Amino acid sequence: MIRKVRSHITQNEPLLFETSSPGKIGYQLPELDVPAVDPAAVLGKENTRGEIEDFPEISEVEAIRHFTRLSTYNYAIDLGLYPLGSCTMKYNPRVNEAVARIDGLAWAHPYQPESLSQGALEIMATLEAALAEITGMDAVTLQPAAGAHGEFTGIQLVRALHQARGNARKKVLIPDSAHGTNPATARMAGYEVENIPSNERGMIDIEALDRLCTEDTAALMITNPNTVGVFEENITRIAEILHAKGAMVYMDGANMNALVGIARPGDFGVDVMHLNLHKTFSTPHGGGGPGSGAVAVKSHLEPFLPTPRLRRAENAWTWDYDRPSSIGKVRAFYGNFGVLVRALAYIMAHGGAGLRNATMDALLNANYIRAKLEPHFEHPHRAPTMHECVFSDEIQARHGVRTGDIAKRLIDYGFHPYTVSFPLIVHGAMMIEPTETEGKRELDLFIDAMISIAAEAVENPELVLKAPHSTRTSRVDEVMAARKPIVRWKPGAEAPGAND
Ligand SMILES: *Cc1c(COP(=O)(O)O)cnc(C)c1O
Repeated sequence: MIRKVRSHITQNEPLLFETSSPGKIGYQLPELDVPAVDPAAVLGKENTRGEIEDFPEISEVEAIRHFTRLSTYNYAIDLGLYPLGSCTMKYNPRVNEAVARIDGLAWAHPYQPESLSQGALEIMATLEAALAEITGMDAVTLQPAAGAHGEFTGIQLVRALHQARGNARKKVLIPDSAHGTNPATARMAGYEVENIPSNERGMIDIEALDRLCTEDTAALMITNPNTVGVFEENITRIAEILHAKGAMVYMDGANMNALVGIARPGDFGVDVMHLNLHKTFSTPHGGGGPGSGAVAVKSHLEPFLPTPRLRRAENAWTWDYDRPSSIGKVRAFYGNFGVLVRALAYIMAHGGAGLRNATMDALLNANYIRAKLEPHFEHPHRAPTMHECVFSDEIQARHGVRTGDIAKRLIDYGFHPYTVSFPLIVHGAMMIEPTETEGKRELDLFIDAMISIAAEAVENPELVLKAPHSTRTSRVDEVMAARKPIVRWKPGAEAPGAND
């Protein structure tokens, strides 16, 4: 088996400020052959500025090399497997990019009149309908810009419904396996958070839920499959318990990659959910770029959806602002349109059977990794894996090697690390999500790397503890980075060393 070796330029790249030398420029213009005009005299002094203090002066090739080198520092899905659990880092088919770059879409402006935006509106209406069909829900808003934003929108809808019924209620129930954004959302929406323990199989403890769910419960926020990668077997019973008390079921749909084309949340009792279009529907993400946290609801929550809503009037699409029960706008304009175009391109390129196939492949890949790694790593929840699998570092920890160390060592083997120490209910968690876009060869390379690291942890733990060895910067002081972040370069300030 050939192991992957990553090649890269080895020198560290200084900041442009540090390479600057006075008088260097990146362009040459011909001599001015018209009378010079003082811009301040024309525009006014307050509208012009002179030199920018300490602005770097460099040549064109230095600027090009600087940014090109920095671009090689990044790991990317186009380079290899990106097994970051819960993040669904799948390959983004290039057809999505081709469609998103069509002039009429890429240059569309939200202030264009409706009559000139019919194509864009049709795209959004078609996407809403497709997502409603995929989730089994009745209506969809495309406004929220990310998953957490979708959660916030969804819980506002729940609050609005309860308020309309005369009592906003006090509590939101959240399982201990939940993503951190769930309790944060509930708190921001003004609810108290109550924790529900998981049982030994990583599922919601039904008896505890039954006990904790009261007339004061606004909703349960549940991720299904949950963050342990396990499908909540009792999901319809869970929904019955909530509904019997007049409470709603909110589903965090970030893990829809395990369900698309196979199971629909609307069919198993979910009232409201968000989708991460930038996860399940392949838009590239990471680094804080644009996303989409579309929210799907059952009809009883539809009147509260953010305004405006798309409406078909005679032969054209129009925005309907006349929605008296709406929670209002949650974002400027209509959502991250470029992301919406990519998501629809992805859905239409696959078709129903293709989407189902993608899901089956995602499950197959995760289970292949689970089966191959089970002899080498502790697998605490012995339920069938869905689209991701969660191991613990228990075996390696006996040699002092923890999940974070194994993750760092993976970098030396040419892979992006898996998700470290999440979910919190698994001690020393290693959360691996391959997605459907990986072929067997890439999966085998990853498995080989993991097995090799498991052996290193026993034979030569120091090698793993000091990893990564192949990068420009090795371990950074994570505590200092969090407590005393240096976010701005200042002239004359001492630069922190690469390894301190
Ligand atoms: C990614 C994720 C979120 C948050 O989505 P963002 O788009 O990052 O805001 C919420 N819940 C789960 C389970 C996730 O995996």
